[in-house]
Amino acid sequence: MKPMFEGKTVLVTGAATGIGRAIARAAASEGASLVLGDIDPQGLARTADALRSSCKNLYFAACDVRQQSELDALVQDGEKAVGPLNTVYANAGILGSPCDVWRYDENEFRTVLEVNVLGAWHTLKAVLPGMIERKSGTIVATASAGGLIGAAGLSAYCVSKHGVVGLVRTTALEVAALGIRINALCPGMTDTAMLDKVATEIPGLREALMTMNPSGRVGTVDEVANAAVWLGSDKSTFVTGHPLVIDGGFLAQ
Ligand code: NAD
Repeated sequence: MKPMFEGKTVLVTGAATGIGRAIARAAASEGASLVLGDIDPQGLARTADALRSSCKNLYFAACDVRQQSELDALVQDGEKAVGPLNTVYANAGILGSPCDVWRYDENEFRTVLEVNVLGAWHTLKAVLPGMIERKSGTIVATASAGGLIGAAGLSAYCVSKHGVVGLVRTTALEVAALGIRINALCPGMTDTAMLDKVATEIPGLREALMTMNPSGRVGTVDEVANAAVWLGSDKSTFVTGHPLVIDGGFLAQ
């Protein structure tokens, strides 16, 4: 079977670690050329080093998704180095510290919205003009199961991820007739540094999440990345405006 990203260029934000790194790895194994961005330059360089043997055509640069100018530069320089973008993963995101909604620190609430919602919007603004000109392109924004339901203690995160789902649905309607698709990836709890951080802050959380999940475990980054590759490839050409849940059955309860 032909590799899903043969001859295609794929951009991933938040590629230094976790789900973004796994998406980059899975896309490279399907033949993609890569443009990678992250706010963490050391982590990003580690991802690039690990992928060089499977991806000959790779560009990476530090990029804070809160800054439109940094995303514009990543897209311009990346396209110059590697080629016009076919699939874009707006994946960078943060959780924020768990806290009751009425006690939540305003600066932290704003930062979560800035990274998760404005960061995804900035990514769309950076890539859509080129996709519209080429009349093709696929975007996958990483939302979360927390973009479809509430989670006590995670108000800023859930608000932001509901925002990402809204952004995806609205954009899908605006660009469907222009040959562009956009979907949301909605992972449940997945084994990454993000989960480690919150599990350290709330002892027993990891075990509780595993018990609450019908599959009795959290997800792996590769399980999320496999779904992401399908959603960003030409195997899903009639899917748009859709929040795809990858959660071991958690939301089916
Ligand atoms: P992670 O913390 O392992 O990775 C997030 C990456 O985003 C890091 O490399 C980080 O440096 C980068 N990043 C953070 N702020 C940034 C910014 N301003 N600009 C550019 N890059 C930035 O977390 P992860 O679990 O891999 O999360 C990836 C995405 O998946 C996030 O959007 C997250 O909300 C979402 N998600 C994660 C889970 C989970 O359980 N891990 C569940 C649902 C959704």
